[in-house]
Amino acid sequence: MPIIRVALNVPVDTLFDYQAEDASQHDIGLRACVPFGKKQVTGIILAVSDETQIPVEKLKSAYCIFREIKPLPAALLDLFHFCSQYYHHPLGMVIMNGLPVKLRNNKPVSLKRKPHQYQYSLTSAGKNVELTQIPARNRVARRLLNEFQQAVTLTNPQIKHISPRAEKLLQDWIQLGWITSELCSASTAARVAKTPVLTAEQEIAVNAITAGGKQFNTWLLHGVTGSGKTEVYLRIIESVLAQGRQALVLIPEISLTPQLEGVFRGRFSNVPLVSLHSGLNDTERLTGWLQAESGEAKIILGTRLAVFTPLSDLGVIIVDEEQDSSFKQQDGLRYSARDLAIFRARQNAIPVILGSATPSLESYYNALTNRYRHIRLLSRAVQNATLPLIQCIDTRIHKNQEGLSDPLIQALNQCLQEKHQSLIFINRRGYAPVLLCKSCGWTAPCQRCSSRLVVHLRDKKLRCHHCGHQEQFPRACPQCGNQDIAPFGQGTQRVEETLTAHFPAARILRIDRDSTRRKHAWQEILHAVHTHQVDILIGTQLLSKGHDFPNLSLVGILNADGALYSTDFRASERLFAQLMQVAGRAGRANVAGHVLIQTEFPDHPLYQALQRHDYDALAQTLLAERKIAGFPPYVYQALLRAEAHHIKTVLDFLAQAAQLARPPQAVELFDPVPAHMSRLKGLERAHLLVQSSSRKHLHTFLTGWYAKITTLPSQKVRWVLDVDPLEF
Ligand code: ADP
Ligand code: ZN
Ligand code: ZN
Repeated sequence: MPIIRVALNVPVDTLFDYQAEDASQHDIGLRACVPFGKKQVTGIILAVSDETQIPVEKLKSAYCIFREIKPLPAALLDLFHFCSQYYHHPLGMVIMNGLPVKLRNNKPVSLKRKPHQYQYSLTSAGKNVELTQIPARNRVARRLLNEFQQAVTLTNPQIKHISPRAEKLLQDWIQLGWITSELCSASTAARVAKTPVLTAEQEIAVNAITAGGKQFNTWLLHGVTGSGKTEVYLRIIESVLAQGRQALVLIPEISLTPQLEGVFRGRFSNVPLVSLHSGLNDTERLTGWLQAESGEAKIILGTRLAVFTPLSDLGVIIVDEEQDSSFKQQDGLRYSARDLAIFRARQNAIPVILGSATPSLESYYNALTNRYRHIRLLSRAVQNATLPLIQCIDTRIHKNQEGLSDPLIQALNQCLQEKHQSLIFINRRGYAPVLLCKSCGWTAPCQRCSSRLVVHLRDKKLRCHHCGHQEQFPRACPQCGNQDIAPFGQGTQRVEETLTAHFPAARILRIDRDSTRRKHAWQEILHAVHTHQVDILIGTQLLSKGHDFPNLSLVGILNADGALYSTDFRASERLFAQLMQVAGRAGRANVAGHVLIQTEFPDHPLYQALQRHDYDALAQTLLAERKIAGFPPYVYQALLRAEAHHIKTVLDFLAQAAQLARPPQAVELFDPVPAHMSRLKGLERAHLLVQSSSRKHLHTFLTGWYAKITTLPSQKVRWVLDVDPLEF
């Protein structure tokens, strides 16, 4: 009887054999439901054979093989294999991590046939309707009409995207004779939104990449903020679509999706696009995944997990904001979607484009050493838009009142008078307000993590931003009984209060995790900003990414200094990237931009380089430092991370693991140390660093070492290898 060899979602790097009478070689890549211990689980068939090492009496039979969808394509299985080998993570777990939840269940998936897609446009009667005829309180109707007036045609998903209620309105409007519909033809790449003439720099970039043709190349598209990298992506995608192939676009954050999705849908309105982000439910994700797999979806836009989407005819991969740390998964399988994207591009012999204004030092170094091809965009795309003027406010001279210095208040005032928008950016690291007892210095700690609880003034709660634990404000200091305990440090809410006091008439909008949690919250915020219903925006890193705010002229940056003297060797690189990005929000269209950084260290090389917009100067300085110190990109690193309830258990485990290691000369093994966040969610954490200037030596060593570590007794310890770690 045939034996199927199945990869299961269990922390053991082996395949499991089962009898399956109806199995054949064609079933490789299909899902099988099998008994595992006392449970019933679903895995992927990776081999079908006549033989097995398992004694017959122990061999179990599979319950069933699911055949309702096609097997996973071989190329996707190759990607999973590579991922498992490179990150030293069990193959079954890698595969299951990469599949939609619906495919991990012990059930066949049921597929509803998709209704035909229609596209809708205004009739001449519809064109006569004015926005003002619709009552202002009818917001969805106003938006729908507005979208029709701008986009000319809309499809069902676009309409649904505006609001679920828009679909109902659409039917009413069809009845009223305002709207006509016609069936979409899926293949034509009709360009609807206005296409700008490329700038000279953009044209060089597009030509170079398209001339590179259908072969593997990693392109570093290194363009200052506002240089029009998106337009370069659009042109490349257009040529890929013209060949009937698919484009995979990876982006860092969910908050970026609506805007970019809008741009793509506007430009390629008839091209089927799926957007795979964490806001989807399981059915939506599966549907998108299947459309990508069948080749029906031509543009796939998604966050890091989308790198595992099966694509039948991939023509290009784009990784926007390639330096963003959210491309690296920070738990379980710690993969880098950017690095896997490069593997996929090589596998498919296609170009991959890494876009950034401030590339990671790894990518920059690869460009300098000609492993990547470097394309620069040095000027802004919009005519007359210049780079913003960046200046420091020395807070040793200009004292803060409630976190805001006089020059910044004055600048805000002027900006308000000129009816321009401004943005106050608060560097969140180390800046969240904590509850402090002024008499004994007590601050409210999280019981489960080595972190302080963050004050949430609005609902009078203390919350841990690592584990989510929350509690009430204490009435008095638990340590000394003092009743005068008050929030210390400027969170977004404190700054909002200070600004409201200074500018009572200004319309102030605070953006943070709390205010963006709701569905559609981002779209509403962006809409409010674009239609100038906001004068001053307050926000954290969420705001720094990729948004285009045409009327923004002033950016104030608070509390960036902390990162200058961090123990994390990547802190400067990150701070620079982040500040460049925030600064890039200012002065994009016809408004000149001005950036004011409050700092105690205005002479620091990082701020000096920032004021000159000189990425290269800073990057060279940092690279020189890294070379001397023996840090990436000059070495390759891996961490053995472990956690347990008691620190002794963790350190003992790491010490045992170190004993098992027989590193060759080229590989350096360090002593176990507690992690930066040494306590998280009630667990003690520590790690052990391994590094080598040779990636090959490092990985050969890791493979052997990994196998030995798995033999250690580790019931009480959770451990994982983190290859190319970003956090310590
Ligand atoms: P980046 O992503 O490089 O920061 P964007 O792609 O957001 O920059 O482009 C910045 C602005 O320039 C956008 O408003 C975009 O519409 C505009 N833009 C891009 N290319 C052109 C062009 N060739 N001509 C005119 N405007 C352009
Ligand atoms: Zn106290
Ligand atoms: Zn906590």
